[in-house]
Amino acid sequence: MEDSFENMDPLQIGEDYRDKDLALKAGKRIRELASDEKQTYKFMHVCGTHEYTITHSGLRELLPPNVEVIAGPGCPVCVTPPEDIALAITITKQPNVLLTTFGDMMRVPATGWGSLNSARSKGAKIQVVYSMMDAIEIARKNPDLEVVHFAIGFETTTPPTAVELLAGPPENFSVIVSHRVIPPAQELLLESGEVGLNGFILPGHVCTITGMRPYMPISEKWKVPQVVAGFEPLDVLLGLVMLLTQIDEGRAEVENEYTRAVTLDGNVRAQEMISQVFETVDAKWRAIGTIPKSGLALRSEFASFDVREHVSVDVEPLKFEVPPGCRCGEVLRGVVGPKECPLFGKKCTPQQPVGPCMVGQEGTCSIVYGALASKPDS
Ligand code: SF4
Repeated sequence: MEDSFENMDPLQIGEDYRDKDLALKAGKRIRELASDEKQTYKFMHVCGTHEYTITHSGLRELLPPNVEVIAGPGCPVCVTPPEDIALAITITKQPNVLLTTFGDMMRVPATGWGSLNSARSKGAKIQVVYSMMDAIEIARKNPDLEVVHFAIGFETTTPPTAVELLAGPPENFSVIVSHRVIPPAQELLLESGEVGLNGFILPGHVCTITGMRPYMPISEKWKVPQVVAGFEPLDVLLGLVMLLTQIDEGRAEVENEYTRAVTLDGNVRAQEMISQVFETVDAKWRAIGTIPKSGLALRSEFASFDVREHVSVDVEPLKFEVPPGCRCGEVLRGVVGPKECPLFGKKCTPQQPVGPCMVGQEGTCSIVYGALASKPDS
């Protein structure tokens, strides 16, 4: 094991990604690199799992006051537009339709519509599945039903959708496609200048698919360093050391801390399948707005699997992106933290979420609430 954290190779850390001594050394190195207290550093991650690691491991407490790590739009159910939830609820009103989706999506509220959970409690046919393969199996076994899968998520969950559509699902199967891609959202945040960002911690699991190349134009254009990081506490700390080292050396590149899983090119086969099935389109992110080329739509060859080809639907426009008083949009853009929302922990809790950021394992408000609730004196 390396004695100094300064030159530590992530490959050599071995199994000790939760080693307290190494974490303290990393913290020391971060403080050395950020020793000029007049200079502030604001790094954003775009992944709920990173927020979970950072919050539940108390990593922010290791950082000096001038180094801040904030959460960005990394929760897939949080950014899913309420219109898509309303569409999903609407189609379940038809007698022969069964909607399938992932567990986290069930509790996400759409203002004025409730959630899929509340629709199910009123009799809508909705089933939670672990994969799209399960949904297709249900369609095969129930030819009289129209099975509609609500497909959400970032680059990690898109390949299974592509694989299943390429395999040729039965005719009574269709999808609501609500997949999103991360880099255009980063660009939007940089362009807005709303939060002065000094770098990004990139999501390791997303990069196992995408590789590092899609992020390179961002570093080039905006002169921001980016580091792909894994999900153990030391991965994140080492990622911060790498970001600060780049700044110290006047570099702005895409580097890889998560070398045990991520390569420069990523999973090329998965990327090919995604582009066979989908094309990139401008897409809406909840409470953030429409982001150019940030969504995926079925190519014409696969249009027969679009839900609108199977079920007739007419959804009225929604009045509110998030309920009045909910600051989820600002939380997703990194402008405020959950505790700055007046509803946090009062009207809005994981048991009764007001906004989408309080739902599931990747919602920033939900993660912060969970960490506070698990403290002995809370
Ligand atoms: S605490 Fe609840 S209401 Fe406030 S921003 Fe988070 S999700 Fe929205």
